[in-house]
Amino acid sequence: MSTTIPSTMHAWRKHKGNMEAVWEEIPVPTTPPTGFLIKLIASGVCRSDHNLLTNEVQPPWFQPAFTLGHEGSGTIVAIGSQVPTDSGFRIGDEIALLAVPGCGKDDCTECSRELQQLCAKGHHSGIGEDGFYAPYATIDVRGAVKIPKGVTPSQAAVATDAVTTAYHAIHRRGEIKKNETVFLFGLGGLGFNALQIIKAIGAKVLVSDVKQENLDEAIKIGVPVEDLVPVGKSVQEWVVERGWSGKIDVVADFVGTKQTFDDAQYIVVRQAGRMLCVGTLNHENTVHMKVGIRKRLSIIFSYGGQTRDLKEALDLIAQGVLNPQVADGKLADFPKVLKELEAGKVTGRIALLHE
Ligand SMILES: [Zn+2]
Ligand SMILES: [Zn+2]
Repeated sequence: MSTTIPSTMHAWRKHKGNMEAVWEEIPVPTTPPTGFLIKLIASGVCRSDHNLLTNEVQPPWFQPAFTLGHEGSGTIVAIGSQVPTDSGFRIGDEIALLAVPGCGKDDCTECSRELQQLCAKGHHSGIGEDGFYAPYATIDVRGAVKIPKGVTPSQAAVATDAVTTAYHAIHRRGEIKKNETVFLFGLGGLGFNALQIIKAIGAKVLVSDVKQENLDEAIKIGVPVEDLVPVGKSVQEWVVERGWSGKIDVVADFVGTKQTFDDAQYIVVRQAGRMLCVGTLNHENTVHMKVGIRKRLSIIFSYGGQTRDLKEALDLIAQGVLNPQVADGKLADFPKVLKELEAGKVTGRIALLHE
């Protein structure tokens, strides 16, 4: 495949001191020695883009100006000189792009403990360093996963964050098993993926969400109506009335309000149960020491995901087990799409398509 790669391109960028995304002309990046130059196909828009634009208290790796976009899929157009020839990647391959694959070095305190998503040294695409709201981007070979047959570029793009984060939480952190009962709070972008991942495991899942339309989506994918807490009903009462007291092994909290965190500790989760925390709607919640100790609870936090999670998530999508909600938009419309997302007008995710 021969492609003429231009020398400059337009990208949506964050400039320190400016809370609006800037559409500006920048050089097309050069191919990194241990990675690829990618021609983007689709870029997923995430609520955290708003935070990246407006919150300037950020980790030290943040550049004064950088290209936004941390969910992407694209085509390999150039391969770095140090990428092993047996890497399995070729020019023309369509791949999903994991924004934070870590540095992968043996002496890295995070990567050596399999905590790549917490590594400060590797590249962070769209999170303080150049990302995917541009026609071209780079990716380290460790952040690249081939898109399996049957997965669209838009699905692959949103799989890199919204699905991978949910997958990591449910499988690696929550270690949810087939014979367990899970109570899931929240069917937003991440929570709806979590629901499908839990169902794929075969565990029993009970669901609470404040929006009826989200519960309707759950019914559509086969969750029995009796396993959904009616909107407006007290979760603690519902659990007692339905006979679930003392039977719920894990509460997966994709909301993270004081209410959900309290509900989980007091009534919902059984003795020696796990509370899996992913949502952060309230920045502070209360741990009830006597409840937690008497019930011998485990509180588990989860953040981000890894290449292996992305790979397994893409396989589940290819098998039709997981179907991330995604609609297509245009790269030029990024600010408008972000505002709609902020206003709660979007169900699932939007992927911006490149020309
Ligand atoms: Zn995100
Ligand atoms: Zn590292």
